[in-house]
Amino acid sequence: MLSQQKETVCIFWFRRDLRLEDNTGLFHALRSGMPVLPLFIFDTGILEKLEDKADGRVHFIHEALTALQNKIVKAGSSLIVMHDKPLDVFRSLLTTYQVNAVFTNTDYEPQAIERDATVAPFLATHHIPFHAFKDQVIFEKNEIQKDDGTPYTVFTPYMKKWKAALKTEDLSVRPVSKHLGGFLKTKPFSIPSLQDIGFQPVSIAFPPAELNESLLEDYASSRDFPARQATSRLSVHLRFGTISIRALVLKARAFSETWMNELIWREFYMMILFHYPHVTSSAFKPAYDRIRWRNNEEEFARWCSGNTGFPIVDAGMRELNETGFMHNRLRMITASFLVKDLLIDWRWGEAYFAQKLLDFELASNNGGWQWSAGTGCDSAPYFRIFSPSEQTRKFDPQHEYIRKWVPEWQELSYPAPMTDHKFARVRTLEAFKSALSEDKA
Ligand code: FAD
Repeated sequence: MLSQQKETVCIFWFRRDLRLEDNTGLFHALRSGMPVLPLFIFDTGILEKLEDKADGRVHFIHEALTALQNKIVKAGSSLIVMHDKPLDVFRSLLTTYQVNAVFTNTDYEPQAIERDATVAPFLATHHIPFHAFKDQVIFEKNEIQKDDGTPYTVFTPYMKKWKAALKTEDLSVRPVSKHLGGFLKTKPFSIPSLQDIGFQPVSIAFPPAELNESLLEDYASSRDFPARQATSRLSVHLRFGTISIRALVLKARAFSETWMNELIWREFYMMILFHYPHVTSSAFKPAYDRIRWRNNEEEFARWCSGNTGFPIVDAGMRELNETGFMHNRLRMITASFLVKDLLIDWRWGEAYFAQKLLDFELASNNGGWQWSAGTGCDSAPYFRIFSPSEQTRKFDPQHEYIRKWVPEWQELSYPAPMTDHKFARVRTLEAFKSALSEDKA
């Protein structure tokens, strides 16, 4: 009996680049001359670890896939969405299709590197090349390094080299829409529902993937005031690639140097994580791993739920719990409070943010936490401790942000401050000093 002829395709594997426009790997796949089968995998290894089955990130991805599918179906093709371990997905696709190549965009996180290090060799045993392209950053890996060829660990010189290296062609758009005829012609495949993959929808309103240019004009002077809604809210889109970093850098170049620097912080932390993956479990500077944390679980629970008795801290935590977002100034204030006022290990806070943030990104979250704790590269020195009342005076002087998230802050029902900031400050300075002096001994 003759076996049915398998269709010859190349696969484009979507990961954190959930858009058609200006997608580098997809652009190359569509121009390869092979019909492109677009694929997304809900990786069971990742999803099973998420305890809360009403997860905003999974919902966001699902919406992004639905939007992608609508566009791909219009092009006479279909996205294929699988729910399995990546290696098993590829094993199964090879039984259905004659796969001649796999195209994708590079993902720099340690777990992604590990995943690709199992998928690429498996494909190689079937003589299938795995082509990974730079897409989620302007500069990757070793592209911006010191003159002696080592990675930067301080932001400002990195940022200067980054800007000096930037050429107009680094920002050129990949015109995917001209090549949509390159998709495999097929009937639409159905996408599993959220329920099919074991999740429930959330009631969070996702921010639009649009950048308001007038916001950028005022960004430098307004970005630190959380009541003003003066930041782009694009972090979740950068996280999942529903917007192109090249398009944003073009806007930053035209409208705001300060905003450009924030986009460079994002790449700085990605570069740090790539070169120093130990930061995921320990302090960037090893001496800081000796700090004797208090790690009081009851105090941690009060911080998580936004009931510390410090209105600015509680406002930030409540914004996070209710919306999956927290303004950058508040991320710094709440992180500083956990580490420096409660002397709780920054990794506890990092893990809580990782669970709650819609824009959770390992590199920026870890970098932000280590910066706030004073344990990271180019971080705030440990003796610079945020005072909640000073931060309120400077950045929420009319208490607008506080009133929004902690309406009862002046009522008797609101808890008394759970610690004395001045006392806690001295306690922290001693703990850090003694950890560092042990290191010298
Ligand atoms: P905008 O101010 O409009 O900035 C534009 C973009 O630049 C952001 O979307 C983001 O991609 C990038 N960016 C801005 N500030 C930073 C920064 N300090 N470090 C790295 N990139 C930056 N950002 C995340 O994307 N994911 C995280 O998990 C995350 N965790 C953080 C944890 C802590 C403790 C701290 C202090 C910061 C963290 N940040 C994180 C950085 C920053 O707070 C958010 O990127 C920012 O608040 C997102 O809002 P926005 O999109 O309106 O930013």
